[in-house]
Amino acid sequence: MRNTLVLNAGYEPLSTVSLQRAVVLVLQDKAVVEQAHPVRVMRGTGVELPVPRVIRLRRYVRVPFRQRAAWSRRGVLARDQHRCAYCGRRATTVDHLVPRSRGGADSWLNTVAACAEDNQRKADRTPEQAGMAVLRQPFEPTPEASLMLALGLRRTDAGEWAGWLPLSA
Ligand SMILES: [Zn+2]
Repeated sequence: MRNTLVLNAGYEPLSTVSLQRAVVLVLQDKAVVEQAHPVRVMRGTGVELPVPRVIRLRRYVRVPFRQRAAWSRRGVLARDQHRCAYCGRRATTVDHLVPRSRGGADSWLNTVAACAEDNQRKADRTPEQAGMAVLRQPFEPTPEASLMLALGLRRTDAGEWAGWLPLSA
């Protein structure tokens, strides 16, 4: 899917996002279309939207210009959509795969969202030692995903894309 450029509220380029994300940001009123495709429009239920090439955020966000997103507990929970990596139920805690007491780092690849029970059950062990399978391997968020986290947009919000089809005018 083609990329759309995202400008901060002050017009500084921030990132590129997929067309899908761009449309969601506009539909959620988080961004306005600054530049649209001259011909193509997207059609939803009773609404037409120009295909955005450049969008601008309505509100200024602080997103550092770096390729790597800063690690945070909140970020891990958001990345994993508050689902426990061991049982899939609602997660409120962050578990270190290699426990911190064994030198495990506060990093995207060493942490997963976990429910309090599983976190407690795993205790001071690695998943292998605890005999617990990790349902989803942790990953480092891309710059686009970091921007979405900063905007408070969940990955599942892209589901709003359903029903929107790019059409030639
Ligand atoms: Zn769990």
